[in-house]
Amino acid sequence: MVEIKYVPTICPYCGTGCGLNFVVKDGKIVGVEPLKRHPVNEGKVCPKGNFGYQFINREDRLTTPLIKENGEFREASWDEALDLVANKLKEVSDEDPNKVGFYACARSPNENIYITQKLARVACGTQNVDHCARICHGPTVAGLATTFGSGAMTNGFDSIKEADYIFCIGSNNMEAHPLFGRKLIQAKQNGAKLVVLDPRFTPTAKIADEYVQFETGTDVALMNAMIKVIIDKDLQDDEFIANRTKGFEEMKEVVQKYTLDMASEITGIKPEVIEHLAVEYASADKAAIVYSLGITEHSHGADNVMSTANLAMLTGNIGKQGTGVNPLRGQNNVQGACDMGALPSDYVGYRKVKDPETTAWFNDYYSGEGYEVNLPTTPGLTLVEMMNAAHAGDLKVLYIHGEDPVLSDADVQHTKEALANLEMLVVQECFLTDTAQCADVVLPAAGWGEQEGTFTSGERRVQCLHKAQEPPEGAWLDWKIMEEIAVRMGVPRPLFHYESAEEIFDEIRECAPIMAGMNRERLDTPEALHWPCPSEDDPCQPLMHKEKFAHPDGLGVFQALEHKGPVETVDDEYPLLLTTTRILFHYHAAMTRRCETLSNEVKTGFIEINTKDAEARGIINGEVVRAFSRRGEIAIPARVTDDIREGIVNIPMHFVECAANVLTNSDSFDPKSKMVELKACAIQVEKLDEVVEMKGEVYKDGTDTEIKAENMATTTVKVGK
Ligand code: SF4
Repeated sequence: MVEIKYVPTICPYCGTGCGLNFVVKDGKIVGVEPLKRHPVNEGKVCPKGNFGYQFINREDRLTTPLIKENGEFREASWDEALDLVANKLKEVSDEDPNKVGFYACARSPNENIYITQKLARVACGTQNVDHCARICHGPTVAGLATTFGSGAMTNGFDSIKEADYIFCIGSNNMEAHPLFGRKLIQAKQNGAKLVVLDPRFTPTAKIADEYVQFETGTDVALMNAMIKVIIDKDLQDDEFIANRTKGFEEMKEVVQKYTLDMASEITGIKPEVIEHLAVEYASADKAAIVYSLGITEHSHGADNVMSTANLAMLTGNIGKQGTGVNPLRGQNNVQGACDMGALPSDYVGYRKVKDPETTAWFNDYYSGEGYEVNLPTTPGLTLVEMMNAAHAGDLKVLYIHGEDPVLSDADVQHTKEALANLEMLVVQECFLTDTAQCADVVLPAAGWGEQEGTFTSGERRVQCLHKAQEPPEGAWLDWKIMEEIAVRMGVPRPLFHYESAEEIFDEIRECAPIMAGMNRERLDTPEALHWPCPSEDDPCQPLMHKEKFAHPDGLGVFQALEHKGPVETVDDEYPLLLTTTRILFHYHAAMTRRCETLSNEVKTGFIEINTKDAEARGIINGEVVRAFSRRGEIAIPARVTDDIREGIVNIPMHFVECAANVLTNSDSFDPKSKMVELKACAIQVEKLDEVVEMKGEVYKDGTDTEIKAENMATTTVKVGK
C-alpha cells in the first residue's frame, strides 16, 4: 500500500519564509503544497516554492566524501576525510588562528549555522566567520544598527497592509520576494499609494501607482534632497525628533547643500518629482519604506540604508504599524545567519566580540573539561576580507559550509585565484557546485527536507522545519559533521555534542537573550515567534522600536551623510553601468538550476539593454553579444528593452555560463559594512562578428562540468573584434 504523508516545512529560497507542506510518498519527497494556515503566504506560493523541491532526490547528490589528489577527486571514507580536515585545521589554527576562515550557509537551518560559528570559535579560536549577508544585507545590519540600534526589519510583513504610502526603493520584490509582493497588492487594495524607484521598469514598478526611474547609486543624494524639502516646508515630526532621536542638527546642516537642482543633476529625477516625493512621504499618516539589494549592494550601501532611517525618523514613521524601514532579506535564512553569530564582529544574538565582558562570558561558557577557549576581542575577517587574504596568501584554510562564492562573489577570476591559493579548501555541500569543484575536500551533507531545525525569515520570524525523508546514504547532518571535526581537533566531546537540533537550539537560547523565550512548544506553530523574545511569557510581537530604539539610551541616531556614487564610473572605453539582479524562476543556481521545471522556464542568462543603446551598437533582440569589463568578458544573449534606463545594463546573477560576476568589481567596497559594489561596474557591450547560439539547460545528473564546458561562453565562443 502506498503511504502518503504531509510534513510541514518552510520554503528554502527567499527571506519571505512561506509555509509549505512536503508531500511524501513511501518515504520520499515527491512534491510540496502551500500551507493554507500559514500567516505569511496564506496558501499561496511562487514558482520557486512550488517547484523548488525537485533538486532534492537528484542522482547527482553527493554521498561520499571526496579528496582531491593531483587535480582529480577520489572517493574517501568519512574517517579519512574528517581526519584530514581536522588535522589541517588544528595545525594551522595552532600556528595562527587568523589563518583559518569559515563561511556559514545562509540557506541552512539556524542550528547548523550556530555550529559553524562554534567550530570556528571554539575549535579553531578564530573570529574569522562570516556569510553571504556581507554581500547582500551587510549594509542593513551595519546601517540600521547604527541608526536604530538593531540591524533588522523594523516591522512585520503584514504591517505593510496598514500603510497609506509605500516608498519602495531598489526592490523588485514581485520577482525576488513574490509573496511579499502580494502584500503590496493587498496594501494597494486597502488604499495605499505605492511608489517604486528603480533604474529598471521592473514587474514591481509595473504594479506601482507611480514609478520613478533614476541613476544607479544616487540614493543618498535623492534622500538628502527629500529631507531638505521636508525640513524647508516644516513637515518634520518635531515631537518625535525631540523625544526619540539625537544627531538631527548635524544631519540638517549636511543636507542644506542638496538642493532640488543639485539632486536632479545627480539622480536624473526632475526637481519637481523629488519635491513631490518628499511632500507625499512626509504628509502621509503612515508611510513605510521598503528596500532590498538595490539600496545595499553599493560601495556606500550602509549610507544608503542610513538615509532611509533618517527619512523615517524625521517624519516619525517608525514604531507604528504601517510604517518603518523594511529591508527584504535575500536568502531564506540570512536573517538567522546574522542572528546566529556567523559574523566576525558578533556572537549569537548580536553580542559584541569587541566587548571584553561579552567575550569573557563566551570564553567561560564554551570552556570546560580541561579545555580552555580564549577568543580575542578583535573582530575577525569578513567574507570579502577572507577571500582577499586567501588571494594574498594570508589565509591558509577556508571552510565553506554550503555557499557558492565562485558564482555569487564579485570578480570570478579573483575568487578562483584566491581559492587556488589556499593550502586547503573544504566545502560541505549537497552537490558538486562550482565552488565545490575547487575544493581539496568535499563533505557530503544532508539537505532541505532531511533534517529538523529552524529558519528565521526577514521579519524575524523563527519557524520550525521538519524532516520528511532520510538523507541519501552517505550524506551526514551538517552539525554532526562539524561536531566530529571539533572532537578530532581535541575539543572534549561533552563540550561539543548534541543529540538533536532542538538541543542545539536550547544552547542558542542560553547564549542569545533576544531568543530566550522561544521554547519548542511556542515555536512549532504556523505563527511561530518573532524575536526579540526575551522570556517565555513575552508575546514576541513583530513591531520594533515602539517606545524606544534598541540603543542603550533608547534614542535613534540621525546620520549626516554625503552622496558618493559608484566607485567605478563609466568612460569612453566602458560606457555602460552594469547592475546585477535575481529573477522569478531562479535563486542562485545550485538548487533551482537542478529543478527541471524552473530551469525550463529560464534556461540561460541574458543582458538587458536599452533600445537606444542596442541600436547604437547594431544589436538586435536575442542575439548573443560580447560584454566585457576591466575584469573579464562573457558572451550573453541580449534582451533589448525600454524597461531599463539608457546607459544602464542588467544581468541576472544565476548563470555560470554567462556569469555576471566575471565582470563585477571586488576592489571597491563599503568601509562601513565591507559590502562589495555588486550593483555598479563599468562595462562595454559589443556585437559579435559571428552568430553564436547559447542554449542553457537544466544541469544533467553528475555532469555539471560537461554542461558548463558546452555553454561557457568565455571558453567556447570566439569573440571577434
Ligand atoms: Fe519561497 Fe519566497 Fe516564493 Fe515564498 S515568496 S514561496 S519564501 S521563494
